[in-house]
Amino acid sequence: MDKMYFDLYSEIEKKSPSGAREYFRDLAISGLALMDKLKGVDSYLKKPRVQFIYIHHVFKDEEVQLHTLLKELQKMHTFISYSEAVDRVLTNRIDKPYIAISSDDGFKNNLRTAEILNEYDAKACFFVNPSIVGETDYGRIEQYCKTQLQFPPVEFLNWKDIDTLQKYGHEIGSHTMNHMNIARASASEIKEDMTLSYETLTDKCGAVKHFAFPFGRFFHFSEEGRKACFEAGFLSCATAERGCHVSSEKRPATDELCILRDHVLLNWKIDHIFYFLVRSSKSAQPQNNFFPYQRSN
Ligand SMILES: [Zn+2]
Repeated sequence: MDKMYFDLYSEIEKKSPSGAREYFRDLAISGLALMDKLKGVDSYLKKPRVQFIYIHHVFKDEEVQLHTLLKELQKMHTFISYSEAVDRVLTNRIDKPYIAISSDDGFKNNLRTAEILNEYDAKACFFVNPSIVGETDYGRIEQYCKTQLQFPPVEFLNWKDIDTLQKYGHEIGSHTMNHMNIARASASEIKEDMTLSYETLTDKCGAVKHFAFPFGRFFHFSEEGRKACFEAGFLSCATAERGCHVSSEKRPATDELCILRDHVLLNWKIDHIFYFLVRSSKSAQPQNNFFPYQRSN
């Protein structure tokens, strides 16, 4: 049993003590999703916007759900690449409902994610941590998963896999070298990490443009982090705060754009996922394009 990598999400969930909590959360969201349905969800989904969504993993037992999600999304949205999505927000070309997909943490199963996305002509950005790419030492992987991701041991992409993702037409972005909590790091640590991940990825993958900070909530980041990100050479910076981007007179500058992304776990019911998307669409406003450190009231 030792040295085992998890490749089924149902097995990972069994290890999680949060079953009961999830169950009640499930019921609550079912109710909310139903209420939304009565009030005409479609109008929110048809609203012109750029909606970023991100997933962490597609284990073998989640592949069917990814197909279902993509089929549903496709009905009312156009899939665009991450770079196109960023560009559309920056240049205020938001004329219909767009979806840009990304995935964090660089698990080996990103390869399957990419293959499935290919079938729908959806191109994603995969945010990876260069320090764990290609790691084969089980002890280090186990330790990294436990301390950095609070996850059981899983396999990670290697550089050859990343090359394959790029050959498919997907993009690669940085998620820091080592899944660092930027809010807890010093200014010099942040600067060093940003530069190193930018250079490592540029060296291995060619020009990289995008950055997504680990853990993703605003309180995991800082104004210092934002500045260091763009100074290192990145052209976009993503959170994991829920929301989406709508047309706005006041365009953010490249280093002001705060990308919001809706997290999706594939074992959620499709209604739940759409509930979050509708909520993001409902609450979208131009000032959400800016980082809170810079928002004017
Ligand atoms: Zn992460």
